[in-house]
Amino acid sequence: MDVTKEKILEILSGYDKKKLKIATICSHTALQIFHGARLEGIKTIGICTPNRQKVYEAFPLGKPDDFLIVQDLRDIPEKELQDENAILIPHGSLVEYTGDKLGELKVPMLGNRESLKWEKDRMKMFKWLQAAGLQVPAVIDPDKIDRPCIVKLAGAKGGRGYKVVSTPEQFYEHFEGMNVIVQEYLIGVRAYPHYFYSPLSQDGFRALEGRVELIGIDRRFESNIDEAYRTEHAGLSFSPSFTVVGNELLVMRESLIEDLLEMGKSVVEAADRLFGGIPGPFCLETVVDENLQFYVFEVSARIVAGTNLYPLGSPYTVYQYSEPMSMGRRIAREIKIAAKQGKLSKLVF
Ligand code: ATP
Repeated sequence: MDVTKEKILEILSGYDKKKLKIATICSHTALQIFHGARLEGIKTIGICTPNRQKVYEAFPLGKPDDFLIVQDLRDIPEKELQDENAILIPHGSLVEYTGDKLGELKVPMLGNRESLKWEKDRMKMFKWLQAAGLQVPAVIDPDKIDRPCIVKLAGAKGGRGYKVVSTPEQFYEHFEGMNVIVQEYLIGVRAYPHYFYSPLSQDGFRALEGRVELIGIDRRFESNIDEAYRTEHAGLSFSPSFTVVGNELLVMRESLIEDLLEMGKSVVEAADRLFGGIPGPFCLETVVDENLQFYVFEVSARIVAGTNLYPLGSPYTVYQYSEPMSMGRRIAREIKIAAKQGKLSKLVF
């Protein structure tokens, strides 16, 4: 059964707030999270399999202070983490490994676990984005496919196995009987802005009781579509695929920053109305068309891998912080401030 917020706050009330630690699974954005915590003077715990430990040992400034070795990353050691006053930071791999068990974990976790349910179910996610007043791609019934559409498999797959189809026949040839969603294919430039919602800050770009910060923007490299011109120049025909391989930094025209901040604010405020809010990091996945209109096709209410591009700060944090500020460090900073002010209950569930 899913744990309640009351239970998490009860566990938190037993914590020694002067000895808080930050914990996560050694994967995804862990180096950045541990590095950021180290810069803020917070001790860290890396939940790690025996064979992976040496990988993290190779990065002395990014490795955790302590390793908690497990045989299977699906088994998060709750008792040990509670005994260490640990706050868990959810990232893509932690969400993927723990799956449905994440809601049951009896360890205080940054953010609001309710958001995970809303982002996992694509229909609910669209409801959230629409409640925020954002433009989203049309969802098309397979029998009514009349334009290029992208077909996505259920669950976050990092784009793996997705295909573009233009007719119902093409759809049924590849996806007959499968659990998929069909979306209109958006044409434009992809941009993945990373945000931090701080309920504790009363200045900056206000949203609800706090502020939204634009921390950075990335664009993904996806195989094979992002090198399609080479394939075409080589005279080969190919069928586009969308498997995420890496990320690159993106800086957008300055006149679009207002739209970016407004979108972030709307997503935070809609989350608050629908399921109690999203403190901490989140990301939108967007396509900007030729009229500079943003279309949002996904939201993730956690740290995303694109933030690994700027462990010492981004072209956006440099104007907000006088010290190098990564998303990992921003997380640690907020936890530190909340602990000092006795407001951790605003940040964790
Ligand atoms: P992740 O959870 O890692 O974000 P995912 O499996 O949920 O991945 P999406 O992010 O929804 O998948 O899509 C993967 C990629 O497919 C996107 O990065 C983008 O390049 C492309 N894509 C997704 N939706 C659309 C769309 N409606 N139009 C055009 N391209 C799209």
